[in-house]
Amino acid sequence: MQKITELNPHELWKYFSEILAIPRISKQEEQITEYLVNFAARHTLDCKRDSSGNLLISKPATPGMESRKGVILQSHLDMVGEKHASVEHDFSRDPIRAIIEDGWVKASGTTLGADDGIGIAASLAILSSGRIKHGPVECLFTADEESGMTGALGIPPGFFKGSVLLNLDSEDEGEIFIGCAGGIDTIASLKLKKKRAGRNRVAMKVTVGGLKGGHSGDEIHRGLGNSVKILSRFLWNADQRFRIRLASMEGGKARNAIPREATAIITIPPRILELIQVYFDSFAGIVKRELEPVEPDMEMTMEQVEMPESTIRRKQQKRLFNTLYACPNGVVAMSQTIPGLVETSTNLASVKLSGEDTLEIVTSQRSSVESAKRDIADRISSHFTLLGARVRHSDGYPGWKPNMGSEVLGISREVYRELFAEEARVKAIHAGLECGLFLQKYPDLDMISFGPTIKGAHTPEERLDIASVDRFWRFLLGMLEKAPVAR
Ligand SMILES: [Zn+2]
Repeated sequence: MQKITELNPHELWKYFSEILAIPRISKQEEQITEYLVNFAARHTLDCKRDSSGNLLISKPATPGMESRKGVILQSHLDMVGEKHASVEHDFSRDPIRAIIEDGWVKASGTTLGADDGIGIAASLAILSSGRIKHGPVECLFTADEESGMTGALGIPPGFFKGSVLLNLDSEDEGEIFIGCAGGIDTIASLKLKKKRAGRNRVAMKVTVGGLKGGHSGDEIHRGLGNSVKILSRFLWNADQRFRIRLASMEGGKARNAIPREATAIITIPPRILELIQVYFDSFAGIVKRELEPVEPDMEMTMEQVEMPESTIRRKQQKRLFNTLYACPNGVVAMSQTIPGLVETSTNLASVKLSGEDTLEIVTSQRSSVESAKRDIADRISSHFTLLGARVRHSDGYPGWKPNMGSEVLGISREVYRELFAEEARVKAIHAGLECGLFLQKYPDLDMISFGPTIKGAHTPEERLDIASVDRFWRFLLGMLEKAPVAR
């Protein structure tokens, strides 16, 4: 069987295979850091570390390349540790066992860590080479990308000197990324005004479930069902027709996920039991038909349950139903410069009880345009202020606005065309990348992001396309050779 150290380019695969043996899940990055520090010492290269755990190894220009702009090759130290339940593997101790299968490298039932081990390996292959032509190079290895980007968030100004940054953490060879979204959360807290549940009523539990859910950045444009929105629509409509009383409501989990499930407990007079059931069935049918193409497994149920102790006062309930029903959700704007890219979006992520009697409504906004992110966050805030809720925002993180006029983008398209006689696809994503965070401290950086093809990242199915690694490597060397001249 072929070994991965026999694959081409040798110098890159050699380091990738060494990295596989080093445990390095997020927040356990000591061993990989030590390995890199030793690497720098062995090659007599400058190496420094900041207080957030980021590491920088620098190498001077090769002869004749001194006039080029400094290039930062950026990858992240950590990997996600996921495995199949049946596999014995301790991510804090055991090496990843890689295998070659049909043109792919994968692990044995665990994540492979090609995200972003391949970026680290490429950087080391360049740092250790005596043949590759390049201007001043700084290899930046950021800490803790996968569990909060705290490395990129904490990087101090002046840590690196270069002005061109190549992020080696994308997962589709042939695509060049030039933008990402920033994000912020907007959280509304509503002190509930309750009263004892009326006598001579019955309680019903309404459930929305079976939805796909998904990442609130990557998948917001798919028109998936949002369980909280569907439930709110039912409650608003039912309230127009019947005298329902809301006892409680809950739905959604993570702030960055589209909610899959939601439930509400309402009380009604027993005499309308049949009427509301008929209305419920027709409502569920309508929503099911609307969402059929994207949410074939959606399910709505209503069943009688035990009476709750209290319900929300009618006036507040009315305002709550109106607010949730009218709350903006989904895609807010598409990019005007990149076809098909969602520019701005908002996700009604969850509704849950916090403590005894406070309803917490969590929403999350994203945009690649910083001012548009602020705008949608403020709109959501003003929306919930009308309800009489207290509203707060998270710190948020900045986006990376696509710049179609970027010098590095221009060079990258040329290099790609010359090497492969085809056009690279230029893209941006509606999720976060570390690049957005660098811009806070280094506003003048010219950046692109690219990488070999990785499928199933963050899962035990993670696999790396061998042929794409060779193309990625040739493209990277081309970028170094054609790096812009400093003015
Ligand atoms: Zn990554």
